[in-house]
Amino acid sequence: MAKFPHILILGGTTEASALARALAERSVMATLSLAGRTEHPAAQPLPVRIGGFGGVTGLAQYLRDAGITHLVDATHPFAAQMSAHAIAAAREAAVPLIALTRPAWSPQPGDRWTSVADIPAAVAALAGPARRVMLALGRMHVAAFAAQPQHHYLLRFVDAPTEPPPLPHHSLIVDRGPFTATDDERLMRDHAIDLVIAKNAGGTGAVAKLIAARALGLPVLMIDRPALPPRREVHAIADALHWLLHPVDLGV
Ligand code: NAP
Repeated sequence: MAKFPHILILGGTTEASALARALAERSVMATLSLAGRTEHPAAQPLPVRIGGFGGVTGLAQYLRDAGITHLVDATHPFAAQMSAHAIAAAREAAVPLIALTRPAWSPQPGDRWTSVADIPAAVAALAGPARRVMLALGRMHVAAFAAQPQHHYLLRFVDAPTEPPPLPHHSLIVDRGPFTATDDERLMRDHAIDLVIAKNAGGTGAVAKLIAARALGLPVLMIDRPALPPRREVHAIADALHWLLHPVDLGV
């Protein structure tokens, strides 16, 4: 006998919130899970649970205990640990999994990108004379760049940090955007930036800096997405909904 769906969305992204809205509008039973990194998360139209599950075993247990019928991994493309845990726990608990992600950015004509595999590779690539670097990575990863203290770093954080960043030469802007390419171009000119470092997050929310770098002919050190085991993946809310609500069509 078919079970009523109870969907668990692993969130923390605009895509997850959009899917939560779409499911709430359709009165589908679903729960949104957040890591708990944000002090005041936005209000959600679905029940929310907050905090880690306790690894793969904890997530598999949660899936069984809560009677989850479908797992949607809508975490950020760089939340690699959570995504790997989701694949393993879904297999362990025999719950079908789909990932809802943003397509990665790819270089456009005029872009001067160098790809690196991860943050340590980006830090290593900065060996050499002092440059003026826009470090568009978010607070979590800034400390790693203390290993290349010769550069001047332009940092832009959503919230003011509680402690000063451990970079001897830096400028810090606190702003949550959205940013336009025109604004970012001005910012790069004002700070005489000669290199931009970015994670390949994809999507439209953070793309302005790449458009600005292209317009100014600036090189970009692009950190690739972490590799994950193969999984079913879609980029559109409509495709996720179709898979969730028409399982027979897709042979699930
Ligand atoms: P991560 O390194 O992959 O995950 C670390 C641990 O945090 C996971 O093992 C899990 O703990 C817990 N966790 C992560 N996401 C969770 C969720 N949605 N619900 C419950 N527990 C979760 O993740 P991260 O990079 O720190 O990202 C944390 C959150 O911020 C995610 O929700 C992600 O979507 C969002 N985010 C991340 C980035 C980024 O650049 N990494 C950017 C924007 C938003 P247990 O092992 O105990 O289950």
